[in-house]
Amino acid sequence: MAFRGVDYLCIDSLFNEEELLVRQTARQFVDDRVLPVIRDCYRDARFPGDLVPEMGRLGFFGANLEGYGCAGMSNVEYGLIMQELERGDSGLRSFVSVQGALVMYPIHTYGSDEQKEKWLPRLQCGAAVGCFGLTEPDFGSNPAGMRTTAQKRGSEWVLNGEKTWITSGSVADVGVVWARTSEGIRGFLVEKGTPGYSASDIHGKLSMRASVTSSLHLADCVVPDSSRLPGAHGLKPALSCLSQARFGIGWGVLGAAMDCYETARCYVITRKQFDDRPLASHQLVQEKLAWMITEISKGQLLAFHVAKLKDSGRVDAAHISMLKRNNVAIALECARLSRDLMGANGIVDEYPVMRHLCNLETVKTYEGTDHIHALVIGERVTGVAAYR
Ligand SMILES: Cc1cc2nc3c(=O)[nH]c(=O)nc-3n(C[C@H](O)[C@H](O)[C@H](O)COP(=O)(O)OP(=O)(O)OC[C@H]3O[C@@H](n4cnc5c(N)ncnc54)[C@H](O)[C@@H]3O)c2cc1C
Repeated sequence: MAFRGVDYLCIDSLFNEEELLVRQTARQFVDDRVLPVIRDCYRDARFPGDLVPEMGRLGFFGANLEGYGCAGMSNVEYGLIMQELERGDSGLRSFVSVQGALVMYPIHTYGSDEQKEKWLPRLQCGAAVGCFGLTEPDFGSNPAGMRTTAQKRGSEWVLNGEKTWITSGSVADVGVVWARTSEGIRGFLVEKGTPGYSASDIHGKLSMRASVTSSLHLADCVVPDSSRLPGAHGLKPALSCLSQARFGIGWGVLGAAMDCYETARCYVITRKQFDDRPLASHQLVQEKLAWMITEISKGQLLAFHVAKLKDSGRVDAAHISMLKRNNVAIALECARLSRDLMGANGIVDEYPVMRHLCNLETVKTYEGTDHIHALVIGERVTGVAAYR
């Protein structure tokens, strides 16, 4: 059955016609192309790579960027695409987030004209895939400690180090790799096939199984100076990319939450226990549904407001921390409550709930953990940084 949306508070009335059309396009894509395959992809730990060209044609990659074939959408439109994609699967939304927010955005914002012309049109249509290498084995929440180095040698740079937990790492044609130089942290575009650059996949994941996650190895990997992002100085540019991706996550997880809520709601209306009464007739069951729909509605308003702030140039990283932290937390709780309401059936992959629940455990961790975003908000309201 086609997804009809979850809209308790008439939030659709906040969207204009174009925004609703963009959402419908993404919704249809997920219903027709993602849902029929995603369960098997997840079981087989396989990314549905054949969907990439179609997502390119639909304008999903770098959708809120201008030029180079990008759709130039508003941040509300972009957010609605993320929401629908994550209703399909967090792994698919992660792929699109990385491609757009973590690879196209830094090239668009910090790259040279040559880098933009070479990569953006190909990344936009899905002819090329990108990855973003920031996390290292010993530096996750604290990327400032990174050990990967880039040493200048004439007109070249020699990169050494290791990145890990990198989405799309082994399938990427280009990696945005962050490394420490004698002048501070810099970003480099490292192409697949460059001698000294390799990727190996991380196996055994019980979350994000329909997404490729890899380690990147850099061993005396030589790249020309023209592959350095000329506008990226220090760690701030890398963090600015994370803000873009976190914004998309804040919208995306609402899609996973809606799918869980709607699946559980339909289930409790038809499932009967005790005197042939539906589960929905019990007060404890209704309380859970009431909590979910209230939190989803609040999350929608938060996402919409932050998108409007972003469109008007007034958003900052601490706003996005609140969006990411809150919406991931409520989505995860919606998945847990939905799983609970469905009893034993909640754990099988005939339903999407357990898959969303497992995926959302990753979403809570990546792009700044729940704790780190609490500390960002804490610093904003007290003026005191408490990371150390
Ligand atoms: C599936 C997946 C895909 C990913 N994709 C990418 C990618 O494409 N590119 C990339 O660069 N990275 C990626 N990551 C890495 C991700 O961003 C990191 O896992 C994340 O930043 C957390 O780092 P960590 O896992 O090392 O945890 P740690 O930093 O070791 O944290 C462990 C725990 O300690 C807590 N903690 C840490 N410091 C503090 C503190 N100061 N105060 C309170 N609590 C604290 C954390 O909140 C957490 O609960 C991905 C991760 C996963 C799981």
